[in-house]
Amino acid sequence: MLTIEEALELVERHIAPIAPRKVPLGEAAGLVLAEDVVSEFNSPPYNKAVMDGYAVRSGDRQPERRLLEEIGAGTVPRHPVTPGTATRIMTGAPLPEGADAVVPIEKSEMVDATSVRLHQLDPAPGQHVMPLGASMRAGDVVLRAGADMRPIEIAIMAEIGRVMATVRPRPRVAILPTGNELVAIGERLGHGQIRNSNGPMLVAAATSAGAEAIELGIARDDRDELSRWIEQGLAADVLLLSGGVSAGKFDLVPAVLADLGIECVFHKVSLRPGKPLWFGVKEDGERRVLVFGLPGNPVSSFVCFELFVRPAIAALAGRGFTQHRTMTAQLGHKFDHPGGRAAYLPARLTVEPTIELIQREVDDADFRAAIARGPFIEILPWQGSADLATLANADALAYLPAEKCRLAAGSPIKVMMIL
Ligand code: AMP
Ligand code: MG
Repeated sequence: MLTIEEALELVERHIAPIAPRKVPLGEAAGLVLAEDVVSEFNSPPYNKAVMDGYAVRSGDRQPERRLLEEIGAGTVPRHPVTPGTATRIMTGAPLPEGADAVVPIEKSEMVDATSVRLHQLDPAPGQHVMPLGASMRAGDVVLRAGADMRPIEIAIMAEIGRVMATVRPRPRVAILPTGNELVAIGERLGHGQIRNSNGPMLVAAATSAGAEAIELGIARDDRDELSRWIEQGLAADVLLLSGGVSAGKFDLVPAVLADLGIECVFHKVSLRPGKPLWFGVKEDGERRVLVFGLPGNPVSSFVCFELFVRPAIAALAGRGFTQHRTMTAQLGHKFDHPGGRAAYLPARLTVEPTIELIQREVDDADFRAAIARGPFIEILPWQGSADLATLANADALAYLPAEKCRLAAGSPIKVMMIL
C-alpha cells in the first residue's frame, strides 16, 4: 500500500493549474493573478498635497503671505507661488508651480481675507507633499503573476486603470455522495438510514478551499445510476465521490469509474482514517478531470479532503500544492499508537499544559525546561471514523507515523491545523 507521501506525490504530479482567463476586475477577488501587471501611469500622477494647509516655497522666510487662490482635490492651480505668497490647499490637490512644501493649517492664522500669517517659517522642501511617482512609476511591475487577488491587489489594479484582470478561474468541484442508506438532510429517517452529512461537508470544505462547489444528487449503489451521475460530474475540474470505495459488496464506485475510462492512479493509502481513498484522472482532449473517491465515513472523508483534495484545489487555482499550516506541539498526555498505518487523528491545541504534563514536571527535573515551550496538543478520544461529534471539538489533526510507538507526555508531535 502507498504511503501518504507517495500518494501525495502522485496527486501533485497529475495537476496542472487551470488555464488563465481575462475577467472584469470585480470578479477577480479571491483568485490568483496569472500575469505580471505593469503600470502605465505614475502614482500619484502629480505632486500632491497630503495635508490641508498652505502651499509655499520652502526657502521663503516671510511670516505674512498674500493668498493667491484656494485649491481642493480635483481642481487645478492657476497661479504660480512666488516669494511672499501662498495658496490655500486641501489634501489630495496638486501643488501649484513654484511651491514645494505645505504648511499645515494648524500652524497658521488668518490676518484678513487675503493674507495669512504662518507660524512655521522653515518647512523642509517636500514637507507634506507626496511627489509624482512616489508610489508607482510608469513601467514599474506593480503586481507579479501568482499574487493572491486580495482587496489590496484589486485596489492597485483600479488605481492604474485596469478594467480586466488575467486570473486563474476558481476550480469547479462536483460532489457526489453515494449509498443506498443516505437520505437528504431535510427528510425523515427510516430504519437503517442515515443523513447525507458528507455532501454538505464537502461543499463547505471545497468552498473554503477556494473552489466553486456543485453538489450533485445522492447516487444509489447501482451501476447505471452511478454512471449517469459520474458522467455529469466529469464536466467539472474535480469530481469528489463519497462512499462506495471500500471492499463491501455494494462498493461499486471503482468498477464504475473504470468502465467510464477513468484511469486509476491509486486505490488505498496507508492512512488512518482514510485507507480506502481512490484517485484517478480522466483525460478529455485538452481537459483533465481529477477524480477522488473519498471513503464514506465522515471523519475519513474529512481527513482525506484536508490531506489530498485541499492542496489539489490550491494547485489548480495557481497557489501550488500546499496544505494547511503545520506545526510541532507537545503531546499533553501519554499515548499508545498501535501503528500499522500512519494516522491523522482529531486533536485539540491548548496554550496551557495539561495536568499530566505538570505532574511529569514535578517528577522529572530535566523536563522543566521543555514544558515552557508549548503549544500543547491533546488527541481526542474518538469513537471511530463515523464520530463527527468528536471531530467538532478538534482544531487540528495530530500526525502519528506508521511505526507502533508509546509516546510519553511532552513528546513532540506534528500537527496540521484545520479550519
Ligand atoms: P462506504 O464507504 O460506502 O462503505 O461507507 C462507509 C460508512 O460511511 C457507512 O457507515 C456509510 O453509511 C457512511 N456514509 C457513506 N456516505 C455517507 C454520507 N454521504 N454521509 C454520512 N455518512 C456516510
Ligand atoms: Mg456505501
